[in-house]
Amino acid sequence: MDSSPSTSTTDHDAVTSGANGSGWEYAPAPETTEVRIEPRYGLFVGGRFVASKGRRRMSTLNPANERELASVVQSNAADVDAAVAAARKAFRKWSRTRPIERGKYLFRIARRIQERARELAVLETMDGGKPIRESRDVDVPLVAQHFFHHAGWCDKLRYAIPGNDDPRPLGVCAQVIPWNFPLLMAAWKIAPALACGNTVVIKPAESTSLTALRLAEIFQECELPDGVVNVITGAGETGRLLVEHKGVDKVAFTGSTEVGKMIARSCAGTSKRVTLELGGKSPNIVFADAAIDQAIEGVVSAIWFNQGHVCCAGSRLFLEESIHDEFVRRLEHRMRKLRVGDPLDKNTDVGAINSRDQLEKINQYLEHGIQEGATMVQCCDRPLPESGFWCRPTFFTGVQPTTRIAREEIFGPVLSVMTFRTPEEAVQRANDTPYGLSAGIWTDKGAKVFELSSRLKAGVVWCNTFNKFDAASPFGGYKESGWGREGGRHGLAAYLA
Ligand code: NAP
Ligand code: MG
Repeated sequence: MDSSPSTSTTDHDAVTSGANGSGWEYAPAPETTEVRIEPRYGLFVGGRFVASKGRRRMSTLNPANERELASVVQSNAADVDAAVAAARKAFRKWSRTRPIERGKYLFRIARRIQERARELAVLETMDGGKPIRESRDVDVPLVAQHFFHHAGWCDKLRYAIPGNDDPRPLGVCAQVIPWNFPLLMAAWKIAPALACGNTVVIKPAESTSLTALRLAEIFQECELPDGVVNVITGAGETGRLLVEHKGVDKVAFTGSTEVGKMIARSCAGTSKRVTLELGGKSPNIVFADAAIDQAIEGVVSAIWFNQGHVCCAGSRLFLEESIHDEFVRRLEHRMRKLRVGDPLDKNTDVGAINSRDQLEKINQYLEHGIQEGATMVQCCDRPLPESGFWCRPTFFTGVQPTTRIAREEIFGPVLSVMTFRTPEEAVQRANDTPYGLSAGIWTDKGAKVFELSSRLKAGVVWCNTFNKFDAASPFGGYKESGWGREGGRHGLAAYLA
């Protein structure tokens, strides 16, 4: 890190003693959480925080008040070269480190993440805008869980891929991640790579670099050997330089389908292995026989969790025609209870939109929806903060399946409501999309669940729940939602030869 003096932020509201129910929380509950933020950050290369070889920098903002939190490096080609070289050097040793020893490092990292959980949660919320309740109860516990899960795999990899008794690491992994779950996406990428004996160069998204850099501190504390993980910050150009680098053996990307296609093209004809976790426009199907109150809560979490910045968000709601009016009425009532505002307030349900660009994109879709003839319903009457990027939770009714709001990923708190008459029609409409990341089914009938889930073209199908994640469960897409899986045994296969 650069040597300039540090600033410190004290978060009061974020601190409650409540358990999160996920089973991964760790006990310490200080009265307040002190979060140190340096004014300027360097890069983490070869086990040390170093200055960039270039001069270009960028700001990372708190999207809830538009204030600059810190300045981070825009890594150039020389920085990428140095990080890849450090990862290559480290690979020689790390790939030969006894698997049980690798496991010890991952366990140690997981424990340290738990110990620093509050600090990580506050930093994630400040840098990205998500409600503290989510970063504290969902993101950070799942980050720790991902390292624990993969720690246990290190010495059992011969069981990971049936028929492969001697799996080998691939080498240097270039990993590029988005801004919606910055720390969780870093964990999804780094933990399996390391468990399999690979080394990593990771680039966080430009608006949310701080928790990846904080994770690097944890790697240092845990004495992870130098160069096993390198963190280089930067914008899209740095990502491009990294994935196109000749010294890289594997590319793991999470982000938009547009950039995913560019990466697929640039890696075509090389020996690089590629996994892509891309966009979605996932269907959430509610039958008349479902437990309606439960389904409403499920729809709320499917689209308004994390401001709808969720690749697998249930952004197309299909209601059985007979319940449409009643369901929409109750959904509106529930939506109006959501609290939009200060992400650090533990009572906030919907935080800030991650960036001005994303807010503009969402607002354009709201206009498209109105122009396309749909009816817009928005929460709430309370005023929004004066600065920062905000979008009220929204749904559209009367949506035609051919319109943009029904077909394109909005990546914001905006739901398109449609109807169906028969299960057959529900499946046909749900699958009528270029994407295939997730789907939800709400019904009281087990037979319907089995019948439909096998016919939905979606990597994950949730039944009577939505947006539940577990490190043991593979996650990934069909069609334009991506290639390969992350998590579980299938996720390991992506990091082994
Ligand atoms: P994005 O624009 O594709 O960016 C993702 C990452 O790629 C960022 O780090 C970005 O850097 C970098 N990047 C941009 N251009 C690049 C290039 N030419 N070569 C290499 N890297 C490049 O996506 P986003 O807007 O950040 O994230 C939202 C998208 O991610 C949504 O479509 C969402 O569905 C998808 N997503 C998918 C999953 C999944 O598991 N399937 C999970 C989360 C999100 P900068 O940000 O610095 O420009
Ligand atoms: Mg930021």
